[in-house]
Amino acid sequence: MAIKSHRASCSLKFLIVGGSISGLATAYALSESGHEVIIVEKSDGRTKVSGSVRSPPNMTRILKEWPGMAALFQRRATKCSGHWFGIACSRLLPAETSERVGFMKFHEQIMSELGADFFVLQHDDLRRELTSLCSAAGVAFEYGRTVVGVKSDDGVVSIALNDGKSLIGDIVIGADGRDSIVREIVDDHLEPTHTVAGINISIPTKVVEATEHLESMCEYNELTIWMGNGLSLTGALDSSAKTFDLSVCSPMRLEFVDGDWYADHALETTLPLELLRGCDPRLQKLIQKGYTCCPTVQVVFEQDDIVGLDGTAALVGDAAHSVLIHGSHNASMAIEDAITLGRLFSRLSDRKQIPLLLDAYREIRHPRTRATQESEYQSLVNISEPSGPLRDVRDGGLKATLSKEFEDFHNCEASALLVQSWEQYLVLFSHDANEEVDNWWSMWGSVVEALG
Ligand SMILES: Cc1cc2nc3c(=O)[nH]c(=O)nc-3n(C[C@H](O)[C@H](O)[C@H](O)COP(=O)(O)OP(=O)(O)OC[C@H]3O[C@@H](n4cnc5c(N)ncnc54)[C@H](O)[C@@H]3O)c2cc1C
Repeated sequence: MAIKSHRASCSLKFLIVGGSISGLATAYALSESGHEVIIVEKSDGRTKVSGSVRSPPNMTRILKEWPGMAALFQRRATKCSGHWFGIACSRLLPAETSERVGFMKFHEQIMSELGADFFVLQHDDLRRELTSLCSAAGVAFEYGRTVVGVKSDDGVVSIALNDGKSLIGDIVIGADGRDSIVREIVDDHLEPTHTVAGINISIPTKVVEATEHLESMCEYNELTIWMGNGLSLTGALDSSAKTFDLSVCSPMRLEFVDGDWYADHALETTLPLELLRGCDPRLQKLIQKGYTCCPTVQVVFEQDDIVGLDGTAALVGDAAHSVLIHGSHNASMAIEDAITLGRLFSRLSDRKQIPLLLDAYREIRHPRTRATQESEYQSLVNISEPSGPLRDVRDGGLKATLSKEFEDFHNCEASALLVQSWEQYLVLFSHDANEEVDNWWSMWGSVVEALG
Protein backbone atom coordinates (compact mmCIF):
# COMPACT_ATOMS: atom_id res chain seq x y z
CA MET A 1 0.00 0.00 0.00
CA ALA A 2 1.35 3.46 -0.84
CA ILE A 3 2.65 5.67 1.93
CA LYS A 4 0.42 8.61 0.96
CA SER A 5 -2.67 7.21 2.61
CA HIS A 6 -2.60 9.66 5.57
CA ARG A 7 -1.26 13.13 6.36
CA ALA A 8 -0.79 14.26 9.94
CA SER A 9 -3.08 17.02 11.11
CA CYS A 10 -0.44 18.02 13.68
CA SER A 11 2.84 18.91 11.98
CA LEU A 12 6.24 18.56 13.70
CA LYS A 13 9.74 19.73 12.88
CA PHE A 14 12.13 16.77 12.49
CA LEU A 15 15.90 17.22 12.47
CA ILE A 16 17.58 14.28 10.75
CA VAL A 17 21.28 13.72 11.40
CA GLY A 18 22.79 11.89 8.42
CA GLY A 19 21.79 12.05 4.78
CA SER A 20 22.57 8.60 3.48
CA ILE A 21 20.01 5.84 2.79
CA SER A 22 18.19 5.80 6.14
CA GLY A 23 18.25 9.59 6.60
CA LEU A 24 16.94 10.30 3.12
CA ALA A 25 14.28 7.58 3.18
CA THR A 26 13.06 8.69 6.61
CA ALA A 27 13.03 12.33 5.52
CA TYR A 28 10.91 11.47 2.51
CA ALA A 29 8.49 9.29 4.48
CA LEU A 30 8.02 11.92 7.21
CA SER A 31 7.71 14.77 4.78
CA GLU A 32 5.04 12.91 2.79
CA SER A 33 3.25 12.37 6.10
CA GLY A 34 2.91 16.11 6.56
CA HIS A 35 5.96 17.07 8.64
CA GLU A 36 8.73 19.64 8.22
CA VAL A 37 12.13 17.95 7.79
CA ILE A 38 15.73 19.18 7.80
CA ILE A 39 18.62 16.84 6.99
CA VAL A 40 22.09 17.66 8.36
CA GLU A 41 24.81 15.74 6.53
CA LYS A 42 28.53 16.11 7.09
CA SER A 43 29.55 15.27 3.53
CA ASP A 44 28.93 17.61 0.61
CA GLY A 45 26.28 15.24 -0.77
CA ARG A 46 28.01 15.17 -4.15
CA THR A 47 31.05 12.97 -3.58
CA LYS A 48 30.70 9.94 -5.82
CA VAL A 49 31.40 6.59 -4.20
CA SER A 50 31.46 3.08 -5.63
CA GLY A 51 29.83 0.03 -4.15
CA SER A 52 26.49 -1.64 -4.43
CA VAL A 53 23.66 -2.41 -2.05
CA ARG A 54 21.15 -5.18 -2.33
CA SER A 55 17.45 -4.62 -2.49
CA PRO A 56 15.69 -7.80 -1.36
CA PRO A 57 11.93 -8.13 -2.02
CA ASN A 58 10.97 -6.59 1.36
CA MET A 59 12.82 -3.42 0.32
CA THR A 60 11.93 -3.40 -3.38
CA ARG A 61 8.25 -3.73 -2.45
CA ILE A 62 8.36 -0.49 -0.45
CA LEU A 63 10.51 1.48 -2.86
CA LYS A 64 8.55 0.68 -5.99
CA GLU A 65 5.60 2.59 -4.48
CA TRP A 66 7.66 5.77 -4.35
CA PRO A 67 7.67 8.10 -7.39
CA GLY A 68 10.39 7.29 -9.92
CA MET A 69 11.73 4.28 -8.05
CA ALA A 70 10.26 1.59 -10.29
CA ALA A 71 11.87 3.41 -13.23
CA LEU A 72 15.21 3.58 -11.37
CA PHE A 73 15.12 -0.18 -10.78
CA GLN A 74 14.35 -0.79 -14.40
CA ARG A 75 17.08 1.54 -15.62
CA ARG A 76 19.89 1.03 -13.15
CA ALA A 77 19.38 -2.08 -11.01
CA THR A 78 20.26 -5.67 -11.84
CA LYS A 79 17.67 -8.31 -11.05
CA CYS A 80 19.20 -11.24 -9.25
CA SER A 81 18.05 -14.75 -10.12
CA GLY A 82 19.59 -16.60 -7.19
CA HIS A 83 22.60 -17.21 -4.96
CA TRP A 84 25.42 -19.47 -6.07
CA PHE A 85 27.58 -20.98 -3.36
CA GLY A 86 31.16 -21.85 -4.22
CA ILE A 87 34.23 -22.94 -2.33
CA ALA A 88 36.95 -20.31 -1.97
CA CYS A 89 39.55 -22.40 -0.15
CA SER A 90 39.69 -25.98 0.88
CA ARG A 91 41.18 -28.26 3.45
CA LEU A 92 42.63 -30.59 0.85
CA LEU A 93 43.99 -28.34 -1.83
CA PRO A 94 46.25 -25.36 -1.33
CA ALA A 95 44.45 -23.57 -4.11
CA GLU A 96 40.84 -24.08 -5.04
CA THR A 97 38.84 -24.01 -8.21
CA SER A 98 35.79 -21.98 -7.16
CA GLU A 99 33.87 -25.25 -7.39
CA ARG A 100 30.14 -24.60 -7.15
CA VAL A 101 28.47 -26.51 -4.39
CA GLY A 102 24.97 -25.10 -4.18
CA PHE A 103 22.39 -22.86 -5.79
CA MET A 104 19.56 -21.05 -4.09
CA LYS A 105 17.37 -20.32 -7.06
CA PHE A 106 14.89 -17.45 -6.85
CA HIS A 107 12.09 -19.33 -8.61
CA GLU A 108 9.81 -16.97 -10.55
CA GLN A 109 6.78 -18.56 -8.92
CA ILE A 110 7.99 -17.71 -5.41
CA MET A 111 9.18 -14.22 -6.33
CA SER A 112 5.88 -13.38 -7.95
CA GLU A 113 4.07 -14.51 -4.77
CA LEU A 114 6.36 -12.16 -2.85
CA GLY A 115 5.35 -9.35 -5.19
CA ALA A 116 8.88 -7.99 -5.68
CA ASP A 117 12.31 -9.10 -6.85
CA PHE A 118 15.83 -9.15 -5.45
CA PHE A 119 17.99 -6.45 -7.04
CA VAL A 120 21.52 -5.14 -6.81
CA LEU A 121 22.07 -1.43 -7.39
CA GLN A 122 24.73 1.16 -6.86
CA HIS A 123 24.60 2.87 -3.47
CA ASP A 124 25.16 6.17 -5.27
CA ASP A 125 22.19 5.67 -7.61
CA LEU A 126 19.85 4.97 -4.73
CA ARG A 127 21.19 7.89 -2.72
CA ARG A 128 20.79 10.26 -5.65
CA GLU A 129 17.23 9.15 -6.39
CA LEU A 130 16.20 9.46 -2.75
CA THR A 131 17.77 12.94 -2.64
CA SER A 132 15.64 14.03 -5.62
CA LEU A 133 12.53 12.62 -3.98
CA CYS A 134 13.29 14.55 -0.79
CA SER A 135 13.94 17.80 -2.66
CA ALA A 136 10.66 17.45 -4.54
CA ALA A 137 8.87 16.79 -1.24
CA GLY A 138 10.27 20.00 0.31
CA VAL A 139 12.93 18.52 2.63
CA ALA A 140 15.64 21.09 3.53
CA PHE A 141 19.33 20.07 3.38
CA GLU A 142 22.28 21.29 5.39
CA TYR A 143 25.28 19.74 3.66
CA GLY A 144 28.86 19.98 4.85
CA ARG A 145 27.78 20.44 8.47
CA THR A 146 28.67 18.00 11.22
CA VAL A 147 26.53 17.53 14.30
CA VAL A 148 28.78 17.69 17.37
CA GLY A 149 26.20 17.57 20.14
CA VAL A 150 22.55 16.77 20.78
CA LYS A 151 20.43 17.68 23.76
CA SER A 152 16.80 17.74 24.61
CA ASP A 153 15.05 19.90 27.13
CA ASP A 154 11.36 20.10 27.94
CA GLY A 155 10.15 18.65 24.63
CA VAL A 156 12.55 20.71 22.50
CA VAL A 157 15.59 19.21 20.87
CA SER A 158 18.68 21.14 19.93
CA ILE A 159 21.61 20.00 17.81
CA ALA A 160 24.96 21.73 17.88
CA LEU A 161 26.90 22.04 14.63
CA ASN A 162 30.64 22.18 14.04
CA ASP A 163 30.44 25.84 12.98
CA GLY A 164 29.17 26.85 16.41
CA LYS A 165 25.56 27.25 15.27
CA SER A 166 22.64 25.13 16.37
CA LEU A 167 19.25 23.97 15.10
CA ILE A 168 16.10 23.47 17.08
CA GLY A 169 13.25 21.05 16.42
CA ASP A 170 10.65 18.75 17.96
CA ILE A 171 12.29 15.38 17.28
CA VAL A 172 15.83 14.43 16.28
CA ILE A 173 16.32 11.34 14.15
CA GLY A 174 19.71 9.64 14.37
CA ALA A 175 20.43 8.41 10.84
CA ASP A 176 24.13 8.90 11.37
CA GLY A 177 25.37 5.35 10.91
CA ARG A 178 27.55 2.99 12.95
CA ASP A 179 29.16 5.64 15.13
CA SER A 180 25.99 7.59 15.79
CA ILE A 181 26.25 10.65 17.98
CA VAL A 182 22.46 10.75 18.49
CA ARG A 183 22.61 7.25 19.98
CA GLU A 184 24.21 8.77 23.08
CA ILE A 185 20.99 10.48 24.13
CA VAL A 186 18.88 7.42 23.37
CA ASP A 187 20.82 4.54 24.86
CA ASP A 188 24.35 4.76 26.19
CA HIS A 189 24.33 1.16 27.45
CA LEU A 190 25.37 -0.61 24.31
CA GLU A 191 26.40 -4.21 24.68
CA PRO A 192 29.04 -4.91 22.02
CA THR A 193 28.86 -8.64 21.31
CA HIS A 194 31.40 -9.11 18.54
CA THR A 195 33.07 -7.37 15.63
CA VAL A 196 32.76 -8.13 11.95
CA ALA A 197 34.96 -6.84 9.20
CA GLY A 198 34.32 -6.18 5.55
CA ILE A 199 35.80 -4.63 2.45
CA ASN A 200 33.88 -3.82 -0.68
CA ILE A 201 35.81 -3.80 -3.92
CA SER A 202 34.56 -2.75 -7.35
CA ILE A 203 36.09 -4.46 -10.37
CA PRO A 204 35.32 -3.48 -13.98
CA THR A 205 33.15 -6.17 -15.60
CA LYS A 206 35.51 -6.42 -18.57
CA VAL A 207 38.34 -7.52 -16.26
CA VAL A 208 36.18 -10.33 -14.88
CA GLU A 209 35.15 -11.34 -18.40
CA ALA A 210 38.81 -11.69 -19.29
CA THR A 211 39.58 -13.94 -16.28
CA GLU A 212 39.64 -17.59 -17.26
CA HIS A 213 36.99 -19.73 -15.53
CA LEU A 214 35.47 -16.73 -13.79
CA GLU A 215 34.03 -15.14 -16.93
CA SER A 216 30.76 -17.06 -16.45
CA MET A 217 29.97 -14.80 -13.47
CA CYS A 218 29.21 -12.07 -15.98
CA GLU A 219 26.76 -14.22 -17.93
CA TYR A 220 24.12 -14.66 -15.28
CA ASN A 221 22.65 -12.25 -12.80
CA GLU A 222 23.38 -14.25 -9.72
CA LEU A 223 25.03 -13.43 -6.46
CA THR A 224 28.12 -15.60 -6.17
CA ILE A 225 29.17 -16.49 -2.64
CA TRP A 226 32.62 -17.99 -2.14
CA MET A 227 32.88 -19.69 1.20
CA GLY A 228 36.33 -19.58 2.74
CA ASN A 229 38.23 -20.28 5.94
CA GLY A 230 37.13 -17.61 8.39
CA LEU A 231 35.93 -15.30 5.65
CA SER A 232 33.64 -15.22 2.65
CA LEU A 233 33.46 -13.30 -0.59
CA THR A 234 30.25 -12.23 -2.26
CA GLY A 235 30.24 -11.03 -5.84
CA ALA A 236 27.39 -9.29 -7.61
CA LEU A 237 27.27 -8.13 -11.17
CA ASP A 238 25.96 -4.64 -11.71
CA SER A 239 25.23 -4.58 -15.40
CA SER A 240 24.34 -0.91 -15.63
CA ALA A 241 27.43 0.29 -13.77
CA LYS A 242 29.52 -2.32 -15.63
CA THR A 243 31.16 -3.39 -12.41
CA PHE A 244 31.49 -6.61 -10.52
CA ASP A 245 31.13 -5.64 -6.87
CA LEU A 246 32.82 -7.93 -4.45
CA SER A 247 32.66 -7.85 -0.68
CA VAL A 248 35.05 -9.73 1.54
CA CYS A 249 33.50 -10.32 4.97
CA SER A 250 34.64 -12.03 8.11
CA PRO A 251 32.77 -12.71 11.34
CA MET A 252 35.96 -11.75 13.18
CA ARG A 253 37.92 -8.59 13.64
CA LEU A 254 40.57 -8.40 10.95
CA GLU A 255 43.57 -6.20 11.30
CA PHE A 256 42.83 -3.39 8.95
CA VAL A 257 41.78 0.22 9.15
CA ASP A 258 38.19 1.29 9.44
CA GLY A 259 37.43 3.46 6.44
CA ASP A 260 35.34 6.53 5.81
CA TRP A 261 32.79 5.89 3.06
CA TYR A 262 33.52 9.20 1.40
CA ALA A 263 37.33 8.85 1.33
CA ASP A 264 39.51 7.10 -1.26
CA HIS A 265 41.19 3.93 -0.07
CA ALA A 266 44.00 2.30 -1.98
CA LEU A 267 43.39 -1.42 -2.25
CA GLU A 268 47.03 -2.39 -1.83
CA THR A 269 47.32 -0.61 1.51
CA THR A 270 43.85 -1.59 2.73
CA LEU A 271 43.42 -5.27 2.08
CA PRO A 272 46.04 -7.53 3.66
CA LEU A 273 46.47 -10.03 0.86
CA GLU A 274 47.61 -12.77 3.20
CA LEU A 275 43.99 -12.93 4.28
CA LEU A 276 43.20 -14.46 0.95
CA ARG A 277 46.01 -17.00 1.03
CA GLY A 278 44.63 -20.39 0.09
CA CYS A 279 41.76 -18.89 -1.90
CA ASP A 280 41.35 -19.59 -5.57
CA PRO A 281 44.38 -17.79 -7.11
CA ARG A 282 42.23 -16.35 -9.89
CA LEU A 283 40.05 -14.71 -7.28
CA GLN A 284 43.11 -13.26 -5.60
CA LYS A 285 44.35 -11.89 -8.91
CA LEU A 286 40.95 -10.50 -9.73
CA ILE A 287 40.70 -8.68 -6.43
CA GLN A 288 43.99 -6.95 -7.08
CA LYS A 289 42.43 -5.42 -10.19
CA GLY A 290 39.72 -3.72 -8.16
CA TYR A 291 39.71 0.04 -8.58
CA THR A 292 37.89 1.19 -5.47
CA CYS A 293 37.36 -0.22 -2.06
CA CYS A 294 36.11 0.70 1.38
CA PRO A 295 37.00 -1.21 4.54
CA THR A 296 34.54 -1.35 7.44
CA VAL A 297 34.92 -2.59 10.98
CA GLN A 298 31.48 -3.05 12.45
CA VAL A 299 30.86 -3.55 16.13
CA VAL A 300 27.80 -5.72 16.52
CA PHE A 301 25.78 -4.58 19.50
CA GLU A 302 22.64 -5.35 21.38
CA GLN A 303 20.63 -2.21 21.87
CA ASP A 304 17.48 -2.05 23.90
CA ASP A 305 16.30 1.39 23.03
CA ILE A 306 15.93 3.04 19.68
CA VAL A 307 13.77 5.90 20.94
CA GLY A 308 14.39 8.54 23.60
CA LEU A 309 12.28 8.24 26.70
CA ASP A 310 11.14 11.86 26.60
CA GLY A 311 9.79 11.58 23.06
CA THR A 312 12.40 13.73 21.35
CA ALA A 313 14.64 11.20 19.62
CA ALA A 314 14.63 8.05 17.51
CA LEU A 315 17.27 6.06 15.67
CA VAL A 316 17.05 4.55 12.19
CA GLY A 317 19.35 2.44 9.97
CA ASP A 318 22.85 1.53 11.13
CA ALA A 319 22.52 3.89 14.13
CA ALA A 320 19.64 1.79 15.42
CA HIS A 321 21.00 -1.71 14.77
CA SER A 322 24.10 -3.45 13.54
CA VAL A 323 22.65 -5.56 10.76
CA LEU A 324 25.59 -6.80 8.71
CA ILE A 325 27.08 -4.13 6.41
CA HIS A 326 27.75 -5.62 2.95
CA GLY A 327 25.00 -8.12 3.68
CA SER A 328 21.61 -8.39 2.00
CA HIS A 329 19.62 -6.47 4.59
CA ASN A 330 21.54 -3.42 5.83
CA ALA A 331 19.79 -1.09 3.38
CA SER A 332 16.50 -2.96 3.60
CA MET A 333 16.28 -2.46 7.37
CA ALA A 334 16.93 1.27 6.87
CA ILE A 335 14.06 1.51 4.38
CA GLU A 336 11.73 -0.47 6.65
CA ASP A 337 12.62 1.81 9.59
CA ALA A 338 11.83 4.84 7.45
CA ILE A 339 8.45 3.64 6.25
CA THR A 340 7.48 2.59 9.77
CA LEU A 341 8.23 6.01 11.29
CA GLY A 342 6.60 7.82 8.38
CA ARG A 343 3.45 5.75 8.47
CA LEU A 344 3.08 6.01 12.25
CA PHE A 345 3.60 9.77 12.28
CA SER A 346 1.12 10.23 9.44
CA ARG A 347 -1.50 9.58 12.15
CA LEU A 348 -0.37 12.34 14.51
CA SER A 349 -3.17 14.70 15.48
CA ASP A 350 -1.84 15.91 18.87
CA ARG A 351 1.62 16.30 20.42
CA LYS A 352 0.50 14.20 23.38
CA GLN A 353 0.55 11.19 21.04
CA ILE A 354 4.29 11.47 20.30
CA PRO A 355 5.60 9.13 23.06
CA LEU A 356 3.04 6.49 22.12
CA LEU A 357 3.94 6.62 18.44
CA LEU A 358 7.66 6.45 19.19
CA ASP A 359 7.03 3.53 21.47
CA ALA A 360 5.07 1.85 18.68
CA TYR A 361 8.08 2.38 16.40
CA ARG A 362 10.30 0.60 18.94
CA GLU A 363 7.80 -2.20 19.48
CA ILE A 364 7.42 -2.85 15.74
CA ARG A 365 11.05 -2.49 14.66
CA HIS A 366 13.05 -3.90 17.54
CA PRO A 367 12.12 -7.61 17.17
CA ARG A 368 12.39 -7.44 13.39
CA THR A 369 15.83 -5.82 13.25
CA ARG A 370 17.18 -7.98 16.05
CA ALA A 371 16.06 -11.17 14.31
CA THR A 372 17.47 -9.97 10.99
CA GLN A 373 20.76 -8.99 12.61
CA GLU A 374 21.11 -12.44 14.12
CA SER A 375 20.09 -14.20 10.91
CA GLU A 376 22.57 -12.22 8.81
CA TYR A 377 25.36 -12.80 11.30
CA GLN A 378 24.70 -16.54 11.49
CA SER A 379 24.70 -16.74 7.69
CA LEU A 380 28.09 -15.04 7.66
CA VAL A 381 29.41 -17.47 10.27
CA ASN A 382 28.04 -20.37 8.23
CA ILE A 383 29.58 -19.32 4.93
CA SER A 384 32.90 -18.52 6.64
CA GLU A 385 33.10 -21.84 8.49
CA PRO A 386 36.70 -23.07 8.68
CA SER A 387 37.56 -26.55 7.41
CA GLY A 388 36.16 -29.33 9.52
CA PRO A 389 33.12 -31.51 10.10
CA LEU A 390 30.66 -28.59 10.37
CA ARG A 391 31.75 -27.33 7.02
CA ASP A 392 31.38 -30.77 5.48
CA VAL A 393 27.80 -31.00 6.75
CA ARG A 394 27.05 -27.54 5.34
CA ASP A 395 28.45 -28.43 1.92
CA GLY A 396 26.62 -31.75 1.89
CA GLY A 397 23.32 -29.95 2.46
CA LEU A 398 24.07 -27.35 -0.20
CA LYS A 399 25.00 -29.95 -2.80
CA ALA A 400 21.46 -31.30 -2.79
CA THR A 401 20.28 -28.00 -4.34
CA LEU A 402 22.34 -28.75 -7.45
CA SER A 403 20.12 -31.68 -8.39
CA LYS A 404 18.20 -31.48 -11.67
CA GLU A 405 14.96 -31.75 -9.71
CA PHE A 406 15.71 -28.49 -7.93
CA GLU A 407 16.06 -26.51 -11.14
CA ASP A 408 12.40 -26.63 -12.07
CA PHE A 409 9.96 -25.31 -9.48
CA HIS A 410 7.18 -27.72 -10.49
CA ASN A 411 9.47 -30.69 -9.89
CA CYS A 412 10.46 -29.65 -6.41
CA GLU A 413 7.37 -27.72 -5.30
CA ALA A 414 6.56 -30.22 -2.57
CA SER A 415 10.11 -31.18 -1.63
CA ALA A 416 11.28 -30.85 1.95
CA LEU A 417 14.54 -29.38 0.68
CA LEU A 418 12.76 -26.48 -1.02
CA VAL A 419 10.77 -25.73 2.11
CA GLN A 420 13.87 -25.97 4.27
CA SER A 421 16.07 -23.81 2.07
CA TRP A 422 13.39 -21.13 1.67
CA GLU A 423 12.37 -21.00 5.32
CA GLN A 424 14.72 -18.25 6.44
CA TYR A 425 14.59 -16.35 3.15
CA LEU A 426 10.80 -16.16 3.39
CA VAL A 427 10.87 -14.76 6.93
CA LEU A 428 13.11 -11.95 5.69
CA PHE A 429 11.63 -11.35 2.24
CA SER A 430 7.92 -11.52 2.97
CA HIS A 431 7.92 -8.90 5.74
CA ASP A 432 5.69 -5.98 4.81
CA ALA A 433 6.58 -2.91 6.88
CA ASN A 434 3.44 -1.01 5.85
CA GLU A 435 1.26 -3.88 6.91
CA GLU A 436 3.03 -4.11 10.29
CA VAL A 437 2.07 -0.51 11.05
CA ASP A 438 -1.49 -1.02 9.89
CA ASN A 439 -1.81 -4.11 12.10
CA TRP A 440 -0.48 -2.17 15.07
CA TRP A 441 -2.85 0.68 14.33
CA SER A 442 -5.87 -1.60 14.10
CA MET A 443 -5.10 -2.77 17.63
CA TRP A 444 -3.95 0.45 19.29
CA GLY A 445 -5.11 3.27 17.03
CA SER A 446 -8.15 4.04 19.15
CA VAL A 447 -5.93 4.45 22.24
CA VAL A 448 -3.72 6.92 20.35
CA GLU A 449 -6.74 8.79 18.99
CA ALA A 450 -8.23 9.08 22.47
CA LEU A 451 -5.23 11.25 23.39
CA GLY A 452 -5.88 13.63 20.51
C1 LIG B 1 28.75 6.92 0.93
C2 LIG B 1 28.33 5.57 1.43
C3 LIG B 1 28.55 4.43 0.65
C4 LIG B 1 28.15 3.16 1.11
N1 LIG B 1 28.36 2.08 0.32
C5 LIG B 1 27.94 0.85 0.75
C6 LIG B 1 28.14 -0.31 -0.07
O1 LIG B 1 28.73 -0.24 -1.13
N2 LIG B 1 27.68 -1.49 0.40
C7 LIG B 1 27.03 -1.60 1.60
O2 LIG B 1 26.62 -2.70 1.96
N3 LIG B 1 26.85 -0.53 2.38
C8 LIG B 1 27.29 0.69 1.99
N4 LIG B 1 27.10 1.79 2.80
C9 LIG B 1 26.46 1.56 4.12
C10 LIG B 1 24.96 1.51 3.95
O3 LIG B 1 24.50 2.76 3.47
C11 LIG B 1 24.31 1.24 5.28
O4 LIG B 1 24.79 0.04 5.85
C12 LIG B 1 22.78 1.13 5.22
O5 LIG B 1 22.23 1.56 4.00
C13 LIG B 1 22.18 1.97 6.34
O6 LIG B 1 22.48 3.31 6.05
P1 LIG B 1 22.48 4.48 7.09
O7 LIG B 1 21.96 5.67 6.33
O8 LIG B 1 21.79 4.10 8.33
O9 LIG B 1 24.01 4.69 7.49
P2 LIG B 1 25.21 5.24 6.63
O10 LIG B 1 25.08 4.80 5.22
O11 LIG B 1 26.44 4.90 7.36
O12 LIG B 1 25.00 6.83 6.65
C14 LIG B 1 25.25 7.66 7.73
C15 LIG B 1 25.35 9.10 7.22
O13 LIG B 1 25.43 9.96 8.33
C16 LIG B 1 26.42 10.94 8.10
N5 LIG B 1 26.90 11.37 9.43
C17 LIG B 1 27.49 10.59 10.38
N6 LIG B 1 27.76 11.30 11.49
C18 LIG B 1 27.31 12.55 11.24
C19 LIG B 1 27.30 13.74 12.02
N7 LIG B 1 27.80 13.78 13.27
N8 LIG B 1 26.78 14.87 11.46
C20 LIG B 1 26.26 14.85 10.20
N9 LIG B 1 26.25 13.75 9.42
C21 LIG B 1 26.76 12.61 9.93
C22 LIG B 1 27.47 10.21 7.27
O14 LIG B 1 28.26 11.11 6.54
C23 LIG B 1 26.59 9.33 6.37
O15 LIG B 1 26.24 9.98 5.19
C24 LIG B 1 27.53 3.05 2.40
C25 LIG B 1 27.33 4.20 3.19
C26 LIG B 1 27.73 5.43 2.73
C27 LIG B 1 27.51 6.66 3.61
